[in-house]
Amino acid sequence: MIPSAFEYFAPTSVEEAIGLLEQHGDDAKIIAGGHSLLPAMKLRLAAPAVIIDINKIGELRGVVVNGSVNIGAMTTYHTILAHDGLKAACAILPRGRRNSRPRGAAIGRRKPASTGR
Ligand SMILES: Cc1cc2nc3c(=O)[nH]c(=O)nc-3n(C[C@H](O)[C@H](O)[C@H](O)COP(=O)(O)OP(=O)(O)OC[C@H]3O[C@@H](n4cnc5c(N)ncnc54)[C@H](O)[C@@H]3O)c2cc1C
Repeated sequence: MIPSAFEYFAPTSVEEAIGLLEQHGDDAKIIAGGHSLLPAMKLRLAAPAVIIDINKIGELRGVVVNGSVNIGAMTTYHTILAHDGLKAACAILPRGRRNSRPRGAAIGRRKPASTGR
């Protein structure tokens, strides 16, 4: 099936994304990898009027290990698994295979048990 019509925004900063979320409220959904949201939209289980694509927000990507560990919401499982500093600092990591699925979506979906597989 084809999703219902929606307005599309691709902000390039967190500030811009938050502004769009404030402007559109519950009508808006963030899209990260789209692995969960797009199938739901195609089945019309979700029909957001506004899609906010956060893929162009560079500041949401990456891992910083510096006494503490900071993993950006758009960091993919592949990057997490390949990060040597993270392996050394935090041995318990989810195993993952997909390159395109960012970690933030599992949190966005309130799914702490996400396997990352
Ligand atoms: C065929 C299939 C197999 C799957 N297998 C597994 C599996 O084995 N294990 C597993 O754990 N999961 C699995 N999933 C679920 C899926 O991989 C997870 O839901 C994953 O989190 C999707 O990531 P995404 O970036 O593509 O999310 P998207 O579809 O882009 O977003 C999902 C939801 O999270 C919200 N969101 C995304 N990013 C953010 C953010 N930064 N802040 C706030 N909200 C955000 C979106 O608005 C949306 O509601 C599977 C899904 C499919 C379709």
